[in-house]
Amino acid sequence: MLGEGILKGLAETAKNFAGSFVSEERLTTVEYPEVRLPQIENTRDFPFLVYDGNDPMAGLRCVSCQICEKECPPKCIYIIKSTDKKPDYVGKPQFYPARFDIDVSVCMSCQICVEVCPFDAIKMNTEFELSTDDRFGGLILDKHKLAKSNEYYQHIHPTEAAEVDGRLAEEKAKVEAKAKAAAEAAAAKAAAAKAAEGAAKAADRAADGASGQPSGAREGRA
Ligand code: SF4
Ligand code: SF4
Repeated sequence: MLGEGILKGLAETAKNFAGSFVSEERLTTVEYPEVRLPQIENTRDFPFLVYDGNDPMAGLRCVSCQICEKECPPKCIYIIKSTDKKPDYVGKPQFYPARFDIDVSVCMSCQICVEVCPFDAIKMNTEFELSTDDRFGGLILDKHKLAKSNEYYQHIHPTEAAEVDGRLAEEKAKVEAKAKAAAEAAAAKAAAAKAAEGAAKAADRAADGASGQPSGAREGRA
């Protein structure tokens, strides 16, 4: 029937309005902004950039790979890659975003940027009070405004952040174990080379003793 959905919606509203006088369960609204409902963990609105440590710019996880920029459906991410590199969380030199802007007036909160990021560098925020009368510049968030600490991420999405932290710690441990094994192998190789050199010198000395002439003299005569 035409308009059936509207009538059902109005009936539900009327039921909750009348019921709210007699039942707490029917109180489905609060007097915002004085009263605020606690946000559920999976709340999301606009993306932010995660940083580790105390320096927001030095600790940004973003390596400026630009995958999120390419995949963002409304193209509201704008990145300029750095020309130099800085160490990432495992100490590997990586590019970083010289510029990273998101136009949140265009962002549709789809979370695709988060899903495609291979570095867990961009996550969804829960901050929704971003209204401004500056329609253009005021809604373009640069990397300084987008940068939020990992502690902030742990606070707003504890379950998801714990999983990410665990995975990154595992990857870091693997990289460190590999570097340690490589260093040990290099040290063993150097020690073996030194031992071989020592053995060769000892053999030369033994030969000198047997012939009564230094090895250099034997070689010169030959
Ligand atoms: S949430 Fe979606 S629309 Fe917004 S920046 Fe990410 S990919 Fe783009
Ligand atoms: S946020 Fe992630 S996907 Fe986007 S540029 Fe940075 S590292 Fe790449």
